[in-house]
Amino acid sequence: MATPEQTHYTTIEKALYQLIAAQGSINEEQLEQLFKRLTEDTDRFNNQETIAQLQTRTLEDSIELINDRIKFIHEKITKFSHQTERVKLYFLIRSAGAITSDSDNTNGSGSSQGLNTLPFTAREIGAINRLIDTIITDNDPVEKFLVTGKQAIHIVGAETSYTGTQSKKFLQRLVTEGFLVQTPRDRFMISSRSLVELQEHLIEQHSLRKEGGLINKCIACNEIQTSGTRCPNLDCWVRLHKLCREPYQRAHGQMCPDCGTEWTSENTVFVGEMALSQNN
Ligand SMILES: [Zn+2]
Ligand SMILES: [Zn+2]
Repeated sequence: MATPEQTHYTTIEKALYQLIAAQGSINEEQLEQLFKRLTEDTDRFNNQETIAQLQTRTLEDSIELINDRIKFIHEKITKFSHQTERVKLYFLIRSAGAITSDSDNTNGSGSSQGLNTLPFTAREIGAINRLIDTIITDNDPVEKFLVTGKQAIHIVGAETSYTGTQSKKFLQRLVTEGFLVQTPRDRFMISSRSLVELQEHLIEQHSLRKEGGLINKCIACNEIQTSGTRCPNLDCWVRLHKLCREPYQRAHGQMCPDCGTEWTSENTVFVGEMALSQNN
């Protein structure tokens, strides 16, 4: 945390912000390297106080300084762990809100929160909402957290009156812009970025699994989980990402911390696309 003595917003923060804003996201390692280079090069600063501050400033301190500034323009930089790859990413979130399509928004300008910088029509936002809603709610009994290509085209068509080809094109756009991920088997999942952006909204709408709702959180990293494994006791709420499971169980053992069921390699129950191959 930045202490009151460390509050000088410098060209370092400016450079970090510009880079993250331009790229949308950047992995932690790259950002640490850049940060190190920038803080070592203190010749550019003539304010002794600032130079002194930079000796002890960490990347987290800098991010906090940036966030303190950009909150006024409804932006925020957030760090999150990728669900299936061993990387941590910093993301610029342009409005920490929901993709909501309010019924007043009929002018097609897509003025909804969360996507307000993007030219989506109200109907397109309606389609995005229904896709996300279906991915979250259509998981009984198997927690697959995806829709098939066919389902997705149907949903988009129903919400927008687009033809099949137009619907496909729109879905491709959602993939290109990072809202959805398309699997090699032509299924669509919510991207990690969208999960981060929508986190609060999704929990508010659907509640946490632990409280009887539909949103999983990984007990190791505490981030939303739509891919990984679940407690073999199907009534239990405990979930782990694939990459979080091994270190977690090494530290805490194989017994479920809530219900006490043992997690073995034989009784693994998957969450995400793997859950489908398990059932077929
Ligand atoms: Zn995790
Ligand atoms: Zn359990």
